[in-house]
Amino acid sequence: MAKEEASLNFLEHIIEEDLRNNYKLSDLCFRFPPEPNGYLHIGHATSICLNFGFGLKYNAPVNLRFDDTNPIKEEQEFVDAIKRDVQWLGFEWAKECYASDYFQQLYDWAVQLIKEGKAYVDSQSSEAIAQQKGTPQIPGTNSPYRDRSVEENLELFEKMKNGETPEGQHVLRAKIDMASPNMLMRDPVMYRVLHKPHHRTGTDWKIYPMYDWAHGESDYIEQISHSFCTLEFLPHRELYDWFLDQIYDPTKLRPKQREFARRNLSHTVVSKRKLAQLVEKGIVKSWDDPRMPTIAGLRRRGYTPESIRNFAESIGVGKRENLIDVSHLEFHIREDLNKKVPRIMVVLDPVKIVITNYPEDKVEWLEAENNPEDDAMGTRKVPFSRELYIEREDFKEEANRKFFRLTIGKEVRLKNAYIIKATNVIKDEAGNILEIHCTYDEESRSGSGTEASKRKVKGTLHWVSIPHAIETEVRLYDRLFVEAAPDAKKDTDFLEFLNPNSLKIVTGYAEPSIEKVEAEDKFQFQRLGYFTVDRDTTDSKIVFNRTVPLRDSWEKIES
Ligand code: ATP
Ligand code: MG
Repeated sequence: MAKEEASLNFLEHIIEEDLRNNYKLSDLCFRFPPEPNGYLHIGHATSICLNFGFGLKYNAPVNLRFDDTNPIKEEQEFVDAIKRDVQWLGFEWAKECYASDYFQQLYDWAVQLIKEGKAYVDSQSSEAIAQQKGTPQIPGTNSPYRDRSVEENLELFEKMKNGETPEGQHVLRAKIDMASPNMLMRDPVMYRVLHKPHHRTGTDWKIYPMYDWAHGESDYIEQISHSFCTLEFLPHRELYDWFLDQIYDPTKLRPKQREFARRNLSHTVVSKRKLAQLVEKGIVKSWDDPRMPTIAGLRRRGYTPESIRNFAESIGVGKRENLIDVSHLEFHIREDLNKKVPRIMVVLDPVKIVITNYPEDKVEWLEAENNPEDDAMGTRKVPFSRELYIEREDFKEEANRKFFRLTIGKEVRLKNAYIIKATNVIKDEAGNILEIHCTYDEESRSGSGTEASKRKVKGTLHWVSIPHAIETEVRLYDRLFVEAAPDAKKDTDFLEFLNPNSLKIVTGYAEPSIEKVEAEDKFQFQRLGYFTVDRDTTDSKIVFNRTVPLRDSWEKIES
């Protein structure tokens, strides 16, 4: 096997083998088929990257197909969100398709099946139909309506279509084999009556096709060569093929369904139904709440399309389901943002320091590097004055030798500025620190070239000049669930594992360089993490979302 070939994943092997046998390169065509019943999530992103990735690799079209066969759960809002998210991830679809565009064709084929004696109208309740299904070990029982005449079936199906029968009275079933070892082959339902308006076809249709009937035939209509789906559809493949057999024209390309494993992410849930619950119950504010594992939520949280694509590529495709730790996703966003975004200084839990030997009215605008990873990003000016904020946790009156931050009598460097030393603290009656008094070494300014500026001190702190600080709202997000696999326990509701601290809002004091920002601008707050400007930002208030801290603080807790 050539080296290149050895690195192909198992789906690529399938495509390559088809290309060696009976497919031309120009036969290849893929699709991504979401149901518009919610927003796309990180699990979908892997499927998007997979299908559109094949499109790019083989220069083949990839359709965006809305699998919109259930008007009860589907909405235009979701169609719009899905298109926005796929585009934002950086992919272009060849055609925008809708299963609902094929309703007439599907209906005509269903009539053909009835005429050939391969489908019949069943007038039993859904409970009765379920009871006759049998079990994997015990064969099912034929419906008493299974041998209805073609004429009667056609007449009833027509009535169903025209809305002349109430919901639940009849269904159309394929006539296959009630004793098949594959339960899905035991006369599956093809159509049900639903008197519900559809977001695209309005009230035109009173019957709606089931997934299995619509999906394969849609693939066939679009001449999709490889229909990749997740493993739960493996037992559906036999039915997919049976339905294709009924309508297949051998001069045309015959789609094939192949399956790969779902990707699940730790400390969250990736199921639209469960995500919808979080929105409906008000546990999160919206589908794009930055705590949601939706593409829109990740985007608002500060994730970039590149980081999500790199994540999807790094986990690859597999045949077994597994839980990917969210730290892998976080690794990819840190790696991407580290190279791209400017550094700024922001203090989130301030304590005031006073540089007692610094003149009262003096302000110096000190030069600061925007990104040490990229000189081309240039420098900015940061104001330094006598009164500054540092983080409360960066000071201890007394500390052991491992504390490389500010303590009485020991030196630290203020980033981009001077070396300071704490002399004494001012406290209120309750013992809370109000001010830390320090002195600075005038000769030690960063980059000034003096001996003092080159002096090595163990710690470097970020800081903000109090008179220049801009007050901002900072939303500190954390994992939505404390449990790695919240929905894995059968008898426990996943909502029991919610992290009560998944959102904490604080006031941040930022250097004045951030005065003009726009939603989705991204920064590294030095020593704290990566942050992005939220769309709730107004002219009078900047709102930041924490994308990810600089280091993973959960590692310690969990080990
Ligand atoms: P959900 O359970 O979230 O509703 P779904 O499978 O019902 O997911 P669809 O919109 O029907 O969602 O799926 C669109 C495509 O995305 C399908 O091909 C599906 O197999 C794939 N997909 C969905 N979830 C994942 C996942 N976690 N990992 C990989 N692919 C996924
Ligand atoms: Mg689905």
